[in-house]
Parts: sequence; C-alpha cells; structure tokens
Amino acid sequence: MGLKLFNTLSRSVQEFAPRAAAGKKVGMYCCGPTVYDFAHIGNWRTFVFGDLVRRYLEFKGYEVRHVMNVTDVEDKIIKRVRETKTTLREFTVKFETAFFDDLKSLHCRMPHVTPRATEFIGEIVALIEKLIARGIAYQTADGSVYFSIEKYRGCGCTYGQLVKLNFDEMRPGVRVAADEYEKEALADFALWKTRVPEDGDVFWPSPWGEGRPGWHIECSAMSMKVLGNSFDLHLGGEDLKFPHHEDEIAQSEGATGQPFVKHWLHGAHLLVEGKKMSKSLGNFFTLRDLAGKGFTGREVRYALLPAHYRETFNFTLDGLTGARTALARIDECVGKLRALAAPHPVPAPVVSRAGSAPGAPDPLTDRFTAALDEDLNISSAWAAVFDWVRDTNKRVAENALSAPAAMAALAAWEKVNSVLGIGAAAEAEAPAEIVALLEARQAARQAKDFKRSDQIRDELKAQGWVVEDSPKGPKLKKI
Ligand code: AMP
Ligand code: ZN
Repeated sequence: MGLKLFNTLSRSVQEFAPRAAAGKKVGMYCCGPTVYDFAHIGNWRTFVFGDLVRRYLEFKGYEVRHVMNVTDVEDKIIKRVRETKTTLREFTVKFETAFFDDLKSLHCRMPHVTPRATEFIGEIVALIEKLIARGIAYQTADGSVYFSIEKYRGCGCTYGQLVKLNFDEMRPGVRVAADEYEKEALADFALWKTRVPEDGDVFWPSPWGEGRPGWHIECSAMSMKVLGNSFDLHLGGEDLKFPHHEDEIAQSEGATGQPFVKHWLHGAHLLVEGKKMSKSLGNFFTLRDLAGKGFTGREVRYALLPAHYRETFNFTLDGLTGARTALARIDECVGKLRALAAPHPVPAPVVSRAGSAPGAPDPLTDRFTAALDEDLNISSAWAAVFDWVRDTNKRVAENALSAPAAMAALAAWEKVNSVLGIGAAAEAEAPAEIVALLEARQAARQAKDFKRSDQIRDELKAQGWVVEDSPKGPKLKKI
C-alpha cells in the first residue's frame, strides 16, 4: 500500500511519490537547528518527527538521503556572539555539539549530510549572483542585496505557494532586513546584508562588499548543492512556512527556473503545560533539563510521538511519567517473548505467526503500516502496538505461544520498532551508536553472516561494551 502525506503545497493529502518515479531514492531536507542556544523540546518534536518520516520511508524500502543543515550564522546568533564577546565558531560549536548529542539520545538516525551555512558562503554568493543576473535581486545603496518580489512575480512565478498572501497590502520596493518577519510585513527580503559595526568579526567578502548572508538564502544554497535543484521532500515546523520556506522557494525557483520541492511537510507546534513555551512561565525545557529530572532520551522520544504531526499537543511532566509506564508495559511484554524464545534467542528472519504459513501477514505490522500510510497516523499506530501487547500478554498467560511463535512476534516487534525507534529496555542506557552496532550485529546474525557479526562484536569491545547472549536475548554490558 502507498504512503499518503499532507503536502503543504497542494494543501491536501497526496500519495507520496518521489520525483524519480521508477526509483526508490528520496532526497529529504530538514531545516536544522539555529545554534544560538540548546534546542528545546518544541524543537525536538519537529526533529523527532523528521526522524519518524525518514525511518518510515526506509521501512517502506526507500533509500533516503537525509540532509539537515546547521544554521550557524543569522541575526540571533550574531546578537549572542556580541553579548558573550566570543568568536562565531567558539560560540556555535558548543550548541552544535550539544544538538547532535541530544539527537542521538533521542534515538534519531544521524542525517547523512549536515552542512553548516558558514561553509557554503561561496554557494550562497553564487546563488545571489544568479538572482541578480536574472533581474530578480538588486543591490541597495548600503551594499546589501534584496530579493524583489515584484520582479519575481513579473516573471510569472508565484510568491505565496505555501501561505496565502495579501498583495494589495504590499508596497513595492519596501524592504525587510530582519530574518524573521510576519506575513503582514510582506516586503522584499535580504539575501546579503552589508557589514555593520554590530556584526563584529562576522563577515565575508563578496562582490557587493563585506557582509553576511540572510537566513533564507542559506537553506536554498545548501539544499540545492547537496540534493540538486529539485528534490522530493522538505520538512520543518509550521512556523517556518512563512517567511523561511516561502522565501526558499522564491530564491530557488527564481534562480533555476525549475520546481524546487515536490512535497512540503510541516509539523504543528508543541505546547508545554498548556502554554507556549517561555522561560518566564517556567515551562521551557531542554532535553538536558528533563535528563536532570531523571528522564531518559528514550522516554522523551516516546512522549514526543503521541499525536498526529499536524496537531498541536500538550507536553506535560505527567505525560512523561506516563511514557515511562507505557514503555515498561512494552518492555515487559517483549521480555516475556524473549524468555519464551529462549532456545532460539535470535528472532527468525521470516516474519510468521504460530500456525500460519511463513510470510503470512502479521497483524501488528499490517495495522501499524496501514495507520502510518494514512498521513503518518501515529496514534492509530500506537493503538495497534498496545492492542498487540494486550493480546500477546493474554496468549502468554494462557500458555498459547510456542517458541517459534514468540520469535515471530519478536521479529514483528523489531520491524515496527525500527520505525518507532524506542529501542529496548536493556539497551536504553548504552549510547545510540552502540545500540546501532548491536542492531547491526543482530541483523548480521539473522542473515547468518557470522564473520560480520564477530567483527561488530570486536568493534563493540574496542568501544568498551560486551554483548552477552542471554536466554532473554542479547544484552550490552560496559566492560
Ligand atoms: P530553530 O532552531 O529555531 O530554527 O528551530 C528548529 C525547528 O524547531 C524548526 O523546524 C521550528 O519550526 C521548530 N520549532 C520551534 N518551536 C517549536 C515548537 N514549540 N514546537 C514544535 N516545533 C518547533
Ligand atoms: Zn531552512
């Protein structure tokens, strides 16, 4: 069955089809963090959502090239660099490292490419030059370069593909220099900002003099450099629709004359304790704050995935405690299955149920897939998981599960969990990359590639972890 996703571009749920119709390759760009502070759990909702999309596409057999940029120069960062009297890199490296550590703690698969804006200045300048050559961008007296919405529209291009805009309110030639502005402030936006004293040492040479890029052009330049002028999927939180994504489309399509992105996906915001997150309300949490309260990345991941991605939902500390209970239910059930499968601790490669022919559909995977195919209906997918847990517990209690049936159930669970990414209880304390190695070893063993599985075991050992194949399945132990 095909996957359907809501495309912000068409404002409708559409069958997902990559541009290369015959292939299974998907180019996916997720707007990454602006590294001026630690990412908060609202940000994490969006990044975990991106990870869910990637995992599900991979589960469906697509070969995903996942790109997530690091915005390491823009207005907010420069302000903080000035306030902290540091250099740009000294300032951003701390938050960038923390971001990728947190990404791993939340079991997110590492994007394949993570370009930094400051390393793409050449591409950014070249893109602006193209827009100037096409008459869509212009230089102002102070040396800055702006995107002309009037000229862009004059070429027959549409500004306002993701959001409805009121052009009657617009006064041509009015400019906005800030990276962030409201729809009502519709105006020409900055591509290159000329150097001002407040920028300190943050500037680069350009054909228009010293300055720095605007935020929006950074993502156009990085995404097209890595994925090509046109690609399949672009993702971000709903606040990025305007101006960021609208401007990305205008810059990219204005420069290349080709359609930029086929499917746009936007995640709704997270509310915390019923309100918009803010430091003064005391409801502003980073992952580190939650770790300080004793919650694991695994628990936070679970708590960030209860609701449909297009619906806001309310994150509470009670909900996080509920996540712990729910995970314990799953862990207990999986533990029972492992014990039952004890004579054969490695799940069978073929998913089959007791009494059913090998390869016959299993109800967990079927219901789970049917739910996620419908625009990633995650709450329905969880319902399938918890019905399965209830049914499995009942069958275990009735002694109705043979070892092969338990193995088949475990194999189905592993498949589903490759999308949910909640790992396993025993593995939860190991860092994500160690858990990933353990998973790779399991996969090698299932494929009877014992040479590879031994290699991975040695690699784990070199990193300070041993695998113990207990009757309840493989366990990681720190040496
Ligand atoms: P930033 O680092 O500010 O550029 O934001 C990173 C991502 O987090 C973007 O995709 C934002 O849309 C998203 N985001 C920001 N606030 C929230 C929130 N409260 N809930 C969900 N996503 C958010
Ligand atoms: Zn972006």
